[in-house]
Amino acid sequence: MQDDSSRIVANWHNVMKAIDRAAGDFERDPGDVALVCVSKTCQAEAILPVLAAGQRLFGENRVQEATSKWPALRDQFPDIQLHLIGPLQTNKVREAVELFDVIETLDRPKLAAAVAAEVTRTGRRPELFVQINTGAEDQKAGVLPEFADTFIAECRQIYELAVSGLMCIPPANQHASAHFAFLAQIARRNGIAKLSMGMSSDFELGIQLGATHVRIGSAIFGARAARDHAAL
Ligand SMILES: *Cc1c(COP(=O)(O)O)cnc(C)c1O
Repeated sequence: MQDDSSRIVANWHNVMKAIDRAAGDFERDPGDVALVCVSKTCQAEAILPVLAAGQRLFGENRVQEATSKWPALRDQFPDIQLHLIGPLQTNKVREAVELFDVIETLDRPKLAAAVAAEVTRTGRRPELFVQINTGAEDQKAGVLPEFADTFIAECRQIYELAVSGLMCIPPANQHASAHFAFLAQIARRNGIAKLSMGMSSDFELGIQLGATHVRIGSAIFGARAARDHAAL
């Protein structure tokens, strides 16, 4: 267990260094690129060493798993920031708004309506990113690119939700750069400052193309079971 902890912490340090290096290479301020440490499928024993090392921003893809894991960790580390990076069902909106600081996966009017209703009911206002399905893949969540501008305008005007970021997961079998550049272009023309793009295999590319958030799991915690890759 001690070995696992030190390996995870060493990985985390290496990822932090790689982010700084990439930011430097591409003339970005390293302080403008946040690491969202993706802790899905990890138990508290794996997460605690990273918390102890100073990481506070984490990403989870399932509301239920996050709800079972994070409240106890937050008691110990009250300044934890949680991002929801997986698809959100409307029947989980209540829990999601209660737990998450940022919901990165807003992607349809019905969900925007449910989030807006919950914001009104509770006064809690998680930050919201819109997920764009840049590769127009059938199996993937996210707004289709041709509807992105309309959906963002609807969120703002009809549901009175502030959209501060965009997120994408490029198709696994394609080079990510075109997708990242495309996402940055949609953000620019909609006046959106934050870009969540880049994972373990391609975060340097994300940083090159303007990412403000990179979502990194396996480079820190090691490979997940095949089942979880399929769920992505
Ligand atoms: C799991 C996941 C990640 C992290 O992927 P790694 O390849 O393990 O870094 C990033 N984004 C989303 C949406 C995920 O579900």
